[in-house]
Amino acid sequence: MIAQNLKKIFAQLKPEIKLVAASKTRTTEEIEQAIAAGVTSIGENYVQEALKKYEVIGSRVNWHLIGHLQKNKAKIAVKIFDIIETVDSIALAAVLDKESAKLSKVIDILIEVNSAKEPAKRGVLPQNVEELVRELGVFKNLRLRGLMTMGPLSQDMQAIRPYFRKTKELFESIKTSQPSRDWNLLSMGMSDSYEIAIVEGANMVRIGTAIFGPR
Ligand SMILES: *Cc1c(COP(=O)(O)O)cnc(C)c1O
Repeated sequence: MIAQNLKKIFAQLKPEIKLVAASKTRTTEEIEQAIAAGVTSIGENYVQEALKKYEVIGSRVNWHLIGHLQKNKAKIAVKIFDIIETVDSIALAAVLDKESAKLSKVIDILIEVNSAKEPAKRGVLPQNVEELVRELGVFKNLRLRGLMTMGPLSQDMQAIRPYFRKTKELFESIKTSQPSRDWNLLSMGMSDSYEIAIVEGANMVRIGTAIFGPR
C-alpha cells in the first residue's frame, strides 16, 4: 500500500521536487516501509513524537520539523531535526541559534508564512517576512533556506492557489532583494494540494495521507 502509493507519487514528481513524507501519528514500521520505498525526508509535527521515532530510525533520513515549535523544545529539536520549517519569530530563531551553537551545528530553517493572513494561524504575515529575513542575518548557526506555507484550510483547491502564488512571489522578491546561495527551498502543498503547489512554484511538498492512507 505505502510502496504503491509512493511509486505513483514519485512517478509524478520531477526530480527537482523534494518529497517530505509527513509522518505524524504513523508508526516507525510505516515509516520504515516508506524509507524502503525511496523516501529520504520525513516531516514530524511534534518534538516528543519525533524523538521516539528518531531513537528507532536514526539519521538515515532527513528530519523536518513541520509543526509549531515551542522555545522550550528547541534544545531537543536541534538534536533531531535537519531543518525546522516553521520558524515564525526572531525570538524562536535566537533560541535555535543558541542551541545549535552549543552542538557546533548549523541548522537549516524556513520561515513559515501565514499566506492567507488567517488570525488563528501560525506563521509570519507576508508583509513582515522581508524584515525577518534581514534580522535573521545575525545568527551564525542558522542557515535560512526559504519559505514554507500551509495556505488556507479549504476543500476548494482553486481557493488555495492564489496563496501559493503569492508565497512564490514573495520567495522570488526576497531572492532578488537579499541574495543568498542558500535561499532555494519553497515548501508548499500537501496530499490534496501538492499538484497545484508545484504548478505555482513549490520545490518541496509535504505529503502524508496520499502516502500512508487516512489518519
Ligand atoms: C499533516 C501535515 C501535512 C500533510 O498533510 P496530508 O493532508 O496528510 O498530506 C503537511 N504539512 C503539515 C504542516 C502537516 O501538519
